[in-house]
Amino acid sequence: MPGTASDPDAVVLRDVSKSFQTRGEPVCALAGVDLTVGRGKFVTLIGPSGCGKSTLLRVVAGLVEADAGEVSIFGESARRACAQKHVGFVPQTPALLPWRTVLDNVRLPLQVNRLASAGRVPSRRPAEILEAVGLGGVLDRHPNELSGGMQQRVAIARAFAFDPAILVMDEPFSSLDEMTREVLRSELLGLWQDRRTTVLFVTHSVAEAIVLSDAVVVLSGPPGRIQAVVPVDLPRPRRDLVELTEDYHALERRIRLELRGAWSDRDAKT
Ligand code: ADP
Ligand code: MG
Repeated sequence: MPGTASDPDAVVLRDVSKSFQTRGEPVCALAGVDLTVGRGKFVTLIGPSGCGKSTLLRVVAGLVEADAGEVSIFGESARRACAQKHVGFVPQTPALLPWRTVLDNVRLPLQVNRLASAGRVPSRRPAEILEAVGLGGVLDRHPNELSGGMQQRVAIARAFAFDPAILVMDEPFSSLDEMTREVLRSELLGLWQDRRTTVLFVTHSVAEAIVLSDAVVVLSGPPGRIQAVVPVDLPRPRRDLVELTEDYHALERRIRLELRGAWSDRDAKT
């Protein structure tokens, strides 16, 4: 990973637009999106369904090409950053290889990218990470022998083991129970702090967004636009108690208000 404080931001989007061709009308998923995510920042996107959150993440991860505008990842094109394995992506559904065991699914990106990632020392071994996310007892099972929530934890462990400079996560915890969510949040924050990983995260939970993030970006749409960027200046580490503070409530009110605007904007168009 490129790396001093004076280096370019982790993610810069300038006037980014993306439409999809469908059988009917083209669907405009993103329209004129400007977003900057500094190195080592934890930024969360929140917004109505269909407003372009997943598309924005896929553009950053180099999986979808923008039609217009600039996308820069550590000062390089998204495609180049993707080829250099700077970005790890946890999709909304786990996408595991059914014929590989849990452990081998988590090892896979390390094996595939051995050459590309030469010189990068992963933070921890795959088995340790699987242990940390509560899957130490199922290393030799196959994905079809796991519940949906367990499969999602394998996908998260795989991204953690890969140890990318930017971790892009699309509603990664939405299929998990509250206790598992807590464990994974704290694992994620540990990784973010220890490795200075930049995180771009999507959730529908305002509380989760506030507890995790340096900034919450409210999107409206479709077509997806940035409605507001709300900085979260609460001290860290943030435990549940943070939810009792006046500062937390002020942030929650502000984000909910922006979200209400985003939803009514959407409803007015549909
Ligand atoms: P979100 O993640 O906020 O729910 P998405 O980024 O998935 O929103 O989708 C934004 C819009 O783009 C939606 O109208 C969706 O139907 C459309 N869209 C997303 N991906 C595709 C695709 N591959 N083909 C056609 N339309 C798509
Ligand atoms: Mg989505």
